[in-house]
Amino acid sequence: MRLEDKITAVTGVGEKRAVMYNKLGIYTVKDLLYHFPRGYVDYTTPVLLSDTTPDENCVVKVRVDKKIRPAYIRKGMTIYRVVASDDSGEIVITIYNSEYLYNSFEIGKEYVLYGKITGNLLKHEINSPLVLKADEECKIQPVYHLTEGLSQQMLRVTVKRALKALDSEIYEPIPKKYLLENNLSSLVYSLSNIHFPKDMNALSLAKNRLVFDELLVLQLGMSLIKTNSHKATGCEMKNIPIDEFYKSLPFELTNAQKRSINECIKDMCDVSAMNRLVQGDVGSGKTAVAAACGYFAYKNGFQTALMAPTEILATQHYETLKNFLEPLGLNVCLLTGSMTLKTKNEIKRKLAEGEYHVAVGTHALIQSTTEFNNLGLVITDEQHRFGVEQRALLSNKGNNPHRLVMSATPIPRTLALMIYGDLDISVIDELPKGRKPIQTYAVTGKLRERAFSFVKEQLDEGRQAYIVCPMIEETDLDLKSVQKYAKDISQKQFKDYNVGLLHGKMSADKKEKVMVDFKEHKIDLLVCTTVVEVGVDVPNSTVMLIENADRFGLSQLHQLRGRVGRGEYQSHCILVTDNVTEESKTRLKILSKTNDGFKISEEDLKLRGPGDFFGERQHGLPSLKIADMAENTKALSMAQSCAKEILSGDFNLSKTENRQLKQLVDELFDKKIDLN
Ligand code: ADP
Ligand code: MG
Repeated sequence: MRLEDKITAVTGVGEKRAVMYNKLGIYTVKDLLYHFPRGYVDYTTPVLLSDTTPDENCVVKVRVDKKIRPAYIRKGMTIYRVVASDDSGEIVITIYNSEYLYNSFEIGKEYVLYGKITGNLLKHEINSPLVLKADEECKIQPVYHLTEGLSQQMLRVTVKRALKALDSEIYEPIPKKYLLENNLSSLVYSLSNIHFPKDMNALSLAKNRLVFDELLVLQLGMSLIKTNSHKATGCEMKNIPIDEFYKSLPFELTNAQKRSINECIKDMCDVSAMNRLVQGDVGSGKTAVAAACGYFAYKNGFQTALMAPTEILATQHYETLKNFLEPLGLNVCLLTGSMTLKTKNEIKRKLAEGEYHVAVGTHALIQSTTEFNNLGLVITDEQHRFGVEQRALLSNKGNNPHRLVMSATPIPRTLALMIYGDLDISVIDELPKGRKPIQTYAVTGKLRERAFSFVKEQLDEGRQAYIVCPMIEETDLDLKSVQKYAKDISQKQFKDYNVGLLHGKMSADKKEKVMVDFKEHKIDLLVCTTVVEVGVDVPNSTVMLIENADRFGLSQLHQLRGRVGRGEYQSHCILVTDNVTEESKTRLKILSKTNDGFKISEEDLKLRGPGDFFGERQHGLPSLKIADMAENTKALSMAQSCAKEILSGDFNLSKTENRQLKQLVDELFDKKIDLN
């Protein structure tokens, strides 16, 4: 039997049952074998009765002392009881209706039971346990996700049959050399032991191997995309000095900024297109780096496009770039959807004729009909909201201009290598001198009124403020509670101020309007959900209060508070939470202690894992079955160096020995990587 065979190829699986398997996403034998158990029952290590935890599933090994006479309750209901014990105590086993099981118990013999143990220290009880004879082979049994019509037993039998029929035919996609080097077990062994582990050690070996496979294939795919997008550019530039740009700045660039600019310039002078991510905390000065690159392109006779996810961000970037570049003789334009057709056409005409050197706009505008005279550099902001496939698509555009991505989400290095595996990375890990770090405090709900007073003081001084309320899910119920919150405080504590509301369910136009109002100080206090995260730069806002702060990941909180502290004033962030567990306190304390986004993201990753780490955002990677990028950081770096080595000998996986790996990459990325 082959892995690609339909599930019906397994003995005992007919057309009817196949439909049930389909519901679990299982169509082929391979799908079945990669339907990994969600857990295991370990019969190999029973605990003493006295060590069991009440109301939890346990495995115990007991000797039968006494069989109590069956109690006939009514028709169809007979209760059988058996008394058994180990060295630490006694247990009453209750079985309903199964005379067969009752009869199989022999006095004086030992059995291994699995089930929920109730009762107290003196008298333990267990109802309808799973029972094995102690001298039977006590194994670790898999427990699967099921669907109606399928039982654990059926799945176990079917998987076992499939493994047996296949055995010698399971392929081995990873060259032996790497298995040895990384201490990995074979695929046959791993698949067999992930379902039916010989012991816990075998299980962990199996897991290691399967995790490694997944991460390796993912990394290979990302690297292939990278190779693909580093195609020859039509915009090769010369290393013309840009000293006049540096001299025109009102400040000295940080070393990290200088390093990033030089990395970009080096890329743009290469024959292949630049694909670089500039990553740095909010306020680290990414826009200055973007401006330097735009200026460099200009000196080389090329135009630059900067794309932002929203109109308001585009407008902000436009103003900043204009300040940097117009004094040096560049013409900068803004292109947004809300402009009149006439204005747009006029701007587009000038862009096509090369009169504008830098165009700032929203994605749609620049991607679609806009023509450039000589586009050499495309800069995108907050690109983490786009998937890897979208990035790949972008690189197939035009005469393959250089690309620069700016992201304010600091991500630990190993993870960044994976998520942005198709990009080279520059990190701005240094803030400009003289920044006042945001003061952050965590308080309980009891201090809310005092926190409100503090917010009011700031408003009275002419500043603005945010209150962030988490929406657990984007449901109407949650939305109502945020709306009610805003209404309540606007009628009570903040009745003398202009209170605005911003949430994700509003139309883009409405959102835009609220943000503009806030920016123009028509709103003093903005109650919002996390939509503000990617939002506005309002230097006059100096305080942010976050409700239910423990519901957010640390990175997300850090990202949120980055909305304040953007101006000359000392800024504050108040985290309100009623969760006073040690864990929650420790977490929030990290934010009071440091303003370093990279440190915070490392901690976040350790504490909560990447699922939470990314919050509501998609990281845009194919989904993984078994690997967890946070937990398996060691496997991740192993897979990364292995992928590098494999590709160094076969850059597009075209050699015969890598054929199977290539196929796995195609499967994981749904054949979306186009290698032509
Ligand atoms: P980011 O986009 O990384 O959040 P910005 O580029 O918007 O940061 O920079 C934030 C502010 O800091 C801007 O007002 C900018 O002019 C200023 N800035 C940038 N670099 C420096 C520097 N090296 N020294 C002082 N101020 C700087
Ligand atoms: Mg910025």
